[in-house]
Amino acid sequence: MEVIKTKEAMRGYAAAQRGKIGFAPTMGYLHEGHLSLVGRAKAENEKTVVSIFVNPAQFNDPADLEKYPVDLDRDLAMLEKAGVDAVFLPQRQEVYPHGVPALKLEYPNLMRRLCGEFRPGHFEGVLLIVHNLFQWVSPRRSYFGLKDYQQYLLIREMARDLEFETEVIGCPLIRERDGLAMSSRNVRLTTAGRTQALKISAALFAAEKKLRSGDKDYPGIAAGVRRGLNPLEVEYVHVSDADTLEAAATQPAAKAILIAVAAYVDGVRLIDNVLITP
Ligand code: AMP
Repeated sequence: MEVIKTKEAMRGYAAAQRGKIGFAPTMGYLHEGHLSLVGRAKAENEKTVVSIFVNPAQFNDPADLEKYPVDLDRDLAMLEKAGVDAVFLPQRQEVYPHGVPALKLEYPNLMRRLCGEFRPGHFEGVLLIVHNLFQWVSPRRSYFGLKDYQQYLLIREMARDLEFETEVIGCPLIRERDGLAMSSRNVRLTTAGRTQALKISAALFAAEKKLRSGDKDYPGIAAGVRRGLNPLEVEYVHVSDADTLEAAATQPAAKAILIAVAAYVDGVRLIDNVLITP
């Protein structure tokens, strides 16, 4: 497995492998969710590239950046074992030699909703880094988890509008056996918090069941999720049209619905969702 540390070397590798690369960007502290993207990339491409970079531009809360877990040796061992061809591992100075650029890539409507409402600047930072990674890696296909559903939508739109020649592929959300959505941040939960956090997936599964049984009272479903989350500190519960992230309307019925939650447990911000396709 090649470990690539500079943009120049990354561009060189990409030029030599043009059209063959499947790419999964990450912030490290890897788990099975990340490895599912790697597995899909390996199955569909000749070369698999993973990047690890904790992107300061997307942390609206400096304390969250400070506490973000890091274990590079473990990550590299996992990627090697998974059969990744190259890891792009740039330092901050390499990515932002002139500091974080003031340039903003924005989708005002999509960014106003869900996490965007509560994390000002977050998605602008995500789009900036993914844009640059696409420039350096030139992936034929790129893989993103539906765990970060809003992020996936925004990146798909950006790749289309800026005419990147990459197919943006959304991969299923991977959970622990007990339902908790896998996240690098879960390591920061206490044992009691870990148990409390199960309320999130349980509430979402109950809502999904209602929706699938034909219940179209979307505000009622959202209220039920909120009750299920009690006493967690809830940031949002949204039942949305999965394409636009607008509040789900009763008509037309043949649209995918996203039920998404953000809540704090032990001061750790957790997000989760279920996607119900017609
Ligand atoms: P992160 O390292 O958290 O920035 O995540 C890197 C990529 O892995 C993103 O595309 C995430 O959506 C994806 N990912 C993170 N957790 C999961 C999960 N539990 N299931 C599926 N994909 C995930």
